Parts: sequence; C-alpha cells; structure tokens
Amino acid sequence: MFFSALVLCVSLYACQRSAPSKGNDRTGMSSKLKVLTTIPPLYSFAKNITGDAADVENLLPSGAGPHEYASSPADLKKIISAQVLIKNGAGLETWLDSLIASAGEVTRSGDKTLIVVDASSGIDIINNDPHIWLSPKKAVHQVKNIRDAMIKADPDNAELYIRNAAQYIGRLETLDLEIQDEIRRWKKKEFVAFHSAFLYFTRDYGLRQVAAIQEFPDKQPTPRHIADVLRVIKDTEIKIIFSDSQFSHKIVESIARDLDLRVLSLDTLETGELHPGWYENMMRKNVAALKKALGGDN
Ligand SMILES: [Zn+2]
Repeated sequence: MFFSALVLCVSLYACQRSAPSKGNDRTGMSSKLKVLTTIPPLYSFAKNITGDAADVENLLPSGAGPHEYASSPADLKKIISAQVLIKNGAGLETWLDSLIASAGEVTRSGDKTLIVVDASSGIDIINNDPHIWLSPKKAVHQVKNIRDAMIKADPDNAELYIRNAAQYIGRLETLDLEIQDEIRRWKKKEFVAFHSAFLYFTRDYGLRQVAAIQEFPDKQPTPRHIADVLRVIKDTEIKIIFSDSQFSHKIVESIARDLDLRVLSLDTLETGELHPGWYENMMRKNVAALKKALGGDN
C-alpha cells in the first residue's frame, strides 16, 4: 500500500513538472491521452469519466484474470506508450509493479511520465480481499480517485471529467439505493461464494459470505477446506451455492450433487466486456442471482 501511494506521489509530482505529454505531437496531429486499466470494472469507471476525451484500453486480454496474471512484452509496450495506468490496488495486481519499474527504466531518459492511479487509495482495505469494486459504495470512491488523477493528468479536460464523473456517480448511487432496498427485504443473509470476493459487498450491504469454495484465487481447494465448506453449508441450511463464470465448475457441481443444492452464477467481474454500462449491468445480475438464493422462501 505504502509503495503504491509513493509511486502515485512521485509520478504526479513529475507530471506537474513535465505535463502535458499529450496534445499536439510533432506531426501536428492531435493525440488523446492514453489510459490503461487492469480489469473491466475499472474500464467502465474510466470510460464514463473520460467519454471520448481519452483512449481507454484494458491491459489484460479478454478472459485473462488479474490474479497471478502472466504479463507479456506486449503489456510492457502498452504501459510505455500510456500516460495513465489505473490499477485496483489492494494487492490484486501483484505482477504489475515489476512492469511499471521496467517501463520506468525505458522512459526515464525521455520527458514522458506515467501516472499510476491506485484506485483503492483511501479505502478501508479488508485483508486478503482486493475485490473492492464489488461494492457499488466503494466503486464510487474508486471513481473519485480516477477522476482526480485524470484531472491532474489532463487539466485541459478537467471540467469534462468533473461533469462526467458526477453523472456516473449519480448512476452508481442509484444502483446502491436499489441494492439496499432489495436486500433489506431478504430473509436470509448468508451465502456461499465460489471465489472469496464479496467481503466489501457484504460489509456494505449487511450480508454474510459464510464460506468460499475456492480458498485461494487460481488454486484448487484442499479436501480439508472442502470438508469445512460442506459443514458450513449444512449448518447454515444453505440450498443454493454460487459458481463463477470464469472458473471450472467441477467442484461446485460435485458439492451441489452431494448435498442436493442448486447452483447459480455470481460474477466477480474480473473478466468481461469493455463497455461503460457493463459494471452496472453485471452488479444488477449479481443481485438478481443473490435474490434467488436469499430473497425467496427456499
Ligand atoms: Zn478475484
């Protein structure tokens, strides 16, 4: 965390000295600010803030999850040519620091500065859960962090970024109220996720993720862990468990068969479409799936 904050400060200071690095290049062609994000929710946030004023691209290829991502030389090239890199932080992108350092080595002699935005900055971090974006309340905080960094990176468009961010935050607050209103009516509060990713969401909305089938991201759970999960499911009389669209469902299916449970999909939004409205759509889908498990009489 400290390291990330330091990177941000140094970069911003450097930027204030040498900005703007965008604008008219030597050929006289107008070039937009190049902004990179690491995961689709951050893409949604950034795109809503910038509109067409910047080129926003997601660094990770479609389908690649951000935990233990194996970066390529092409990723380094993209970082070198970008002005702003937006990461989630909170320990999600452990592979990113060495890429940023390498990009720094390459660009040190030039006048270009990379602004690294840690979108988790100022958020009360839950140990071992970097999935901040899964709470719309925290998404608002992340949007504000991104907005402030965009204003520093591209002061010419400050008014636009402020206006766009305010509109988008309004939409996220509507989403937040919708979810609060919905969850308030649910009788049950406890659920079992596939991937331990919903602690910000449950903390902000009064639910409980009582177990996660996959103990650690990208790792097969141990038989002992599965035994614990089975015991929790029986103890809490849970009838529906959740899988995640990006992982193999074999373990989930076998648990569901053994205990006669129904399986629904809950998305961690780590991979998916790059679209301004995608984050809100997916969160509504997740809440609809949770409602089936917690809101009814089953
Ligand atoms: Zn995850």
